[in-house]
Formats: sequence, C-alpha cells, structure tokens
Amino acid sequence: DGSVTAESVPSLMKHMPLCMNHLMKGVMTEHHLKYSGRQQLSLFLKGIGLNAEEAMRFWQMQFTAGPGSMSIERFNKDYKYTFRHNYGLEGGRINYKPWDCRTILSKPKPSKSEFHGCPYRDMHRDQLANELHKMGLDSGSRMDDVLDLSDRGEYQTACTKVFELTHKDRIDAMLKNGETVDETSIIHPNLYYSRSVYLEG
Ligand code: SF4
Repeated sequence: DGSVTAESVPSLMKHMPLCMNHLMKGVMTEHHLKYSGRQQLSLFLKGIGLNAEEAMRFWQMQFTAGPGSMSIERFNKDYKYTFRHNYGLEGGRINYKPWDCRTILSKPKPSKSEFHGCPYRDMHRDQLANELHKMGLDSGSRMDDVLDLSDRGEYQTACTKVFELTHKDRIDAMLKNGETVDETSIIHPNLYYSRSVYLEG
C-alpha cells in the first residue's frame, strides 16, 4: 500500500539526497550512529512516513544486526528512548520536525566516525567526486560544476544541481509534455525526497 516500513527504507535510498544516503550507508555498515547522525536520519525518516512503530523496528534491526553489533537488551536500555523521544512519545512530548538544510549546516561538522552533516560541505573533493560517481554522474564538466559549487560554499545549489542531473530524463519528459516542474532550490532533505518520489513514482 506504499507505506514506509522498516524493511522498505533501504529501497528508498534512490530518492534520498546525499546526506541521507551517507547516513543510511553509515548505519548499515557500522550498526550504530552517533547522536547527531541518529537525530538527522531519524527525523528525516519520520518525515518520509516511517511511523513510530516501524521506526523502532528499523533502528533495532540496524543496531542489532550484523557482526559486532549490540544486543537487543542494550538497544532497549540505551537507545530506544531517544528514537521514541523524536516521535514525541517521551519527555516533553514535542513533535520534532525533520531538519532542514540550514539546521543541518548549523550543527558541528562530523568527526571521522560520524556521518551527519552535509556532504557537499563536509566531504573532501575526492570523496565527494567518488560519491557523485556512484549516484551516476560522469566525471567531466557536470561533475566539476558540482564540485566547484561545493568548494565555493554553495552547498544547496550543488545539491539542487545533482538532483537535476540525476532526474534529468524525467524532468525533460515532463517539460516536453507541457507539465510544470518545480525547479526551485533544494532547502530541505525531505523536499529532495518528495520531489524525487513525485518524479519517479
Ligand atoms: Fe542534505 Fe541539504 Fe546538503 Fe542536500 S544540501 S545534502 S539536502 S543538507
């Protein structure tokens, strides 16, 4: 029925901006994320429709699966609370909103073992080029444009450009059909996601 489940989240990575892709890869390989990463990704996932129950299953699955990961008891004792808190089920029962790009960029930069932040700001040029390549961008002038925008501190413009390049066929087809396409700048990871889902279904 199209609802987002713990199991379906990885298959939705194709719609996620690079920051969330990076966090997803982080949690799937490390079976853990530090505080800022947990906050950035869990509120984003809440925003794409992962409900509280599925979110607990998702995080427990990620944190307790795989070699060297923690036990379910430890997850329940030390981590469950913070995820429930993000859904307003604990503490002050505030309905926390997913972070926009400005909030993400206002947090301290990630250290070596952290995955939060904005990759257009936080990754070295080579690493960023490598990630863009994996997203389907060929090295060449388009790739250089994105890297140069990032170097100049125009992170959201770089992200918007990557969205346009990775969705080019669909955008062109819609424009050809006389349909309107939202070409405003990406200012929120959830906007990137919903725009991608809208275009690609
Ligand atoms: Fe994420 Fe925003 Fe950076 Fe894009 S510009 S990668 S959506 S923080």
